Amino acid sequence: MSSAPRQIGLSAAYLDEREEQLVLEVLRSGRLSLGPSIDRFEEQFAAAVGAPYAAAVSSGTAGLHLLCVLAGLKPGDEAITSPFSFAASANCFLYEGATPVFADIDPNTLNMDPAAVEAAITPRTRAIVAVDIFGYPCELAELQAIADKHGLALIDDSCEALGSLYKGKNLGAHGQDAVWAFYPNKQMTTGEGGMVTTHDEHTWKMIKSLRNQGRADGGGWLDHAYLGYNYRIDDIRAAIGIGQLEKLDRILGLRDEVAERYHQLLAGIDGVELPWRDDADHKRSWFVYVVKLAKGIDREQVIAHLAAAGVATSRYLPSIHLQSYMRERFGFAEGLCPISEDASSRTLAVPFYTGLTADDQSYVADAVRAAVAAAH
Ligand SMILES: *Cc1c(COP(=O)(O)O)cnc(C)c1O
Repeated sequence: MSSAPRQIGLSAAYLDEREEQLVLEVLRSGRLSLGPSIDRFEEQFAAAVGAPYAAAVSSGTAGLHLLCVLAGLKPGDEAITSPFSFAASANCFLYEGATPVFADIDPNTLNMDPAAVEAAITPRTRAIVAVDIFGYPCELAELQAIADKHGLALIDDSCEALGSLYKGKNLGAHGQDAVWAFYPNKQMTTGEGGMVTTHDEHTWKMIKSLRNQGRADGGGWLDHAYLGYNYRIDDIRAAIGIGQLEKLDRILGLRDEVAERYHQLLAGIDGVELPWRDDADHKRSWFVYVVKLAKGIDREQVIAHLAAAGVATSRYLPSIHLQSYMRERFGFAEGLCPISEDASSRTLAVPFYTGLTADDQSYVADAVRAAVAAAH
């Protein structure tokens, strides 16, 4: 009888007794929502990213949506984002009836090319959602200059980039409104959850009102000053978030180590291009480990080979404009963003998480080497 093959998943949360204890405290307190854990979570998160204000929400998507509401997006407006991102980066425009415009990416960083953003601007453009894809900081200074020149709102979708540094400072500390997310595959998790950070007190107050059905500060429970939403987080999730923030430095350090081990184990495999490295202005916080396969390698064959070896992978990421609802609604097709489309056809995420062991990483690397050799 053969032993069961190893099974290595794509991601795993990093939790321990501390989160259990904090959740129990909330359960026993009876304050399950709109309680003190949310304020504490927000204060600690704001401090962690160097922003003066933070407002917790039910998801990263909810945070993006609320910032689009505050940017005044409406039908007929256009908003620019990256085609090489998670669909939420563009869906937040559609919720307000605005039209998504995709600016192609840099082939190395996989983030929006500022020149493509500038070229995509029309008289109808109202906002830019920048994305720090796979945790690699976007070209924030260039994008802010473009936004200023054209009078556009700039929102940083930092949902994959908690802990990343741009020009030596945390993303979140540079002045832009930013959105963060806590789904279990992110650097830290609350199960479901998100955060908006801002340097503007009015924006902060409005996010806190809109997430809570548009209730005004100091008004009664049944007084609604604005069209709001139920985008609240609850105290149980906030408690998990507090526990995660307490160990955030350890989490980020361990993820750096996992990435460094992959750099060494995967270097030199013919046909495998490693993730773009940091430079003085860009220090990535590791969200996923995504390699690019050389042209001519059959990615589906690599995926099947790895699956047979018990190694989970994912095609991170399909280009948003080629998703079927985008094609149907806006007529987008192949060729719109060729650099993004090329990346989408060749990128592959391998197992990556805080507690991934060196032994499992060696196993993954051997499996990748064999899978790629067989798919040439
Ligand atoms: C995770 C993520 C989001 C938001 O995710 P939610 O599941 O809504 O919390 C938004 N943008 C990007 C780029 C993401 O990776």
